[in-house]
Amino acid sequence: MITNLNIRNCVRCNKIFMPVGGDKICPDCRAADLKTEEYVKTYVRDHPGIMINDLIEQTGVPSKFIWRMVQRGQFEHSGLRGAEYPCSNCGKMIKHGIYCEMCADKLKTNAQKFAAAMNSKQRVAESNKAHAASGKTFSNSMYDALSSAREN
Ligand SMILES: [Zn+2]
Ligand SMILES: [Zn+2]
Repeated sequence: MITNLNIRNCVRCNKIFMPVGGDKICPDCRAADLKTEEYVKTYVRDHPGIMINDLIEQTGVPSKFIWRMVQRGQFEHSGLRGAEYPCSNCGKMIKHGIYCEMCADKLKTNAQKFAAAMNSKQRVAESNKAHAASGKTFSNSMYDALSSAREN
């Protein structure tokens, strides 16, 4: 008997398949992707020094697909020129990583702020618990009065 039936819909063709690990696309779509990657790589090999924009135009492969290949380092030492792709956050053209330097910095700061906010939220929750334990909670009406005062 099969328990914990592990299936999902392919995000591309919507076919039901059994994912291996975190697969989002089915084996058929993955095979098609690999074929496209091979095609693009061969095209670059046959056209050394080609610019990425020309590659996208001439192969007819979606730019997103080619950008992802660049991001994964699949064109290293391939002779592709201008191998840039947009920052996943702001769209600025970059050559390494997922985000441009500015966004990487911003995201790091945001992550730190988020962590700090989570910590203070936790502290509030803990002090509320402490109050509750000592019977010193605000009554609901008192709380309402306070919050409507703040709104005015
Ligand atoms: Zn599929
Ligand atoms: Zn950016």
